[in-house]
Amino acid sequence: MSKRSHYHPLGKQASPSTKRFQASQRATLAFEDERDFEEHTRGLIATPEFTQIMADTGNVAWDMGRYEFLLDGEEFDSIHPSLQRQAVLNMNYGLYEVMPGIWQVRGFDLSNVTFIEGETGWIVFDTATAIETARAALACIDEHLCERPVSAVVHSHSHIDHFGGVRGLVDEADVVSGKVPIIVPKGFLEHAVAENVYAGTAMIRRSFFQYGVLTPASPFGHVDQAIGKNVAAGTPSLIAPTMIITQDIEEHVIDGVRMVFHSTPGTEAPAEMNTYFPDLKAFWAAENVTATIHNIYTLRGALVRDALMWSKKIGEALYLFGSDAEVMFASHSWPRWGTERIQEVLRGQRDSYAHLNNGVLHLANQGVTINEIHNEYEPPSSLRAQWFARSYHGSEKHNSRAVINRYLGYWDGNPATLIPLSPKDSAPLFVEMMGGSDRILAKGRDLYDEGRYLEAVEILNKLVYAEPDNEAAKQLLADNFEQVGYQQESTSVRNSFLSAAYELRSRIPDGVPPSASGPDLMRALTTEMFFDALAIRLDSSRVEAVEFVANIKHPDTGEELVVELSNATLTTQAGFQATDPDVTVTIDRADLEDVMVGAVTFTDQIATGVATVDGDITGVQAMFGALVEFDMLFELLPGTAPVA
Ligand SMILES: [Zn+2]
Repeated sequence: MSKRSHYHPLGKQASPSTKRFQASQRATLAFEDERDFEEHTRGLIATPEFTQIMADTGNVAWDMGRYEFLLDGEEFDSIHPSLQRQAVLNMNYGLYEVMPGIWQVRGFDLSNVTFIEGETGWIVFDTATAIETARAALACIDEHLCERPVSAVVHSHSHIDHFGGVRGLVDEADVVSGKVPIIVPKGFLEHAVAENVYAGTAMIRRSFFQYGVLTPASPFGHVDQAIGKNVAAGTPSLIAPTMIITQDIEEHVIDGVRMVFHSTPGTEAPAEMNTYFPDLKAFWAAENVTATIHNIYTLRGALVRDALMWSKKIGEALYLFGSDAEVMFASHSWPRWGTERIQEVLRGQRDSYAHLNNGVLHLANQGVTINEIHNEYEPPSSLRAQWFARSYHGSEKHNSRAVINRYLGYWDGNPATLIPLSPKDSAPLFVEMMGGSDRILAKGRDLYDEGRYLEAVEILNKLVYAEPDNEAAKQLLADNFEQVGYQQESTSVRNSFLSAAYELRSRIPDGVPPSASGPDLMRALTTEMFFDALAIRLDSSRVEAVEFVANIKHPDTGEELVVELSNATLTTQAGFQATDPDVTVTIDRADLEDVMVGAVTFTDQIATGVATVDGDITGVQAMFGALVEFDMLFELLPGTAPVA
């Protein structure tokens, strides 16, 4: 079919075997069910002229134009046909009326920006990832509907594509004065910052794979992100919330609109909530119900989620609101209209998560391990026949392993895998025993030609670990990764394979990845979290001979903490003071925040007298001197670091 050229000189077209696979998939999919296409265009008011949104720093933050190849009606053999359908649906772009009183700007960022008509202004549900894309969404509705102030902001959950754009919508002064409330579920702030700080550098690096953020948009590269096109590369922000929903069900009137908040912790995010609008008969499903089965384990790295709890919260929504609602809309994808359709989607997704949980444990209780389950678990055929129950963001493969990981952990019970050799240590032995590089390459080529890509990956991966400079091995591994990637329905898995192929061919790419941090997020850390994050950055080998007990006092907030360095380990307890500390440091929390965002150093604050010191500060200074700045561009695969 497609004879388009590959974006990479070493890239390959879909192989005959991949073409056969895609054809077999096309034959089984329920293309006759076209309701998604009616729903995703319904209510379109305006599509803007522009396709790009620029970041304030000068880079392109968002670019729908680079995906226009998806709109030519061509079937690409390098894209799973089910994923291609989803990728076309996510070409959504513009301002849509969900119903009178509710509008969405879709396709300006990974997530939608939803506007509810309040008495005095727009009540915004979720803000997109970046200041720039949120600002563009507000400008879009102001231009095509009418210009109104933002009267309230609701963050449905603690992921950055739902709060990062807040400064593009409201002035912090109006939030602080109480004029514009920011409404969030319980635990929002803690989870919003915790998720991105302790393992943040590793997560961003891994997101190069899961989201393919720097992999070119192409039928052979990035085509979609399942719940939207991609993640915007703009400026993230955060303003401290002013109203926290703590109960399972809470009813409030916000700017004249009655809202029933439905708490759903432990689902798609640790802090999340749905909202029902009883007077509008409209159900906001947050990110709990979108047009895909989601991640129980998100491949960039995150705590494993609870498929059973997720299912139960969808079930609650079905019984609380599902008989009354006339429209269901969410922070990603498109709305569903009519009680029958809403119930169909809620039931199908409820059952998908429940079946995943139960089906996997059903097999685990018969001895199927975390290293086998992805080849064993299958959802029932009735769920496979429903588009909204297919796994574009998650995949049955990595989600099934996640369920076992949640209940049983990563070990399969075989002592041989309990303290395995590191890949780079085991690989040379395998290569030697397999008869060396030439034999492995020859077999790898045969397996590639036969379409046995995962088997080829098994041996070529060993060779690449043993010989990271073996270009032929890296390129053949890339070719096999690529065909596996082309065959995936899940964007997370496709992007991981295709981005890995890209790095094997060209090494780690340049470019501006989306940021999950920034001054606002750092400032939102508690002082205890800040020191806990420093403890992760500490090179403990350099403080073997250092010990201290330090009391920290924040006069402006009244907070007190004790920080100890002992056994080359930094620990912090909020709410305690040592009776006989080596040093007491008194610094306003506001002044510590300047250190947290990197504007000044801790030593500067002492030197200028902003922080006052009573006792011996040398141990604390030695600790600050032994902190490591993490470099995000570490290798995920051997031999892919940029050439110096
Ligand atoms: Zn999201």
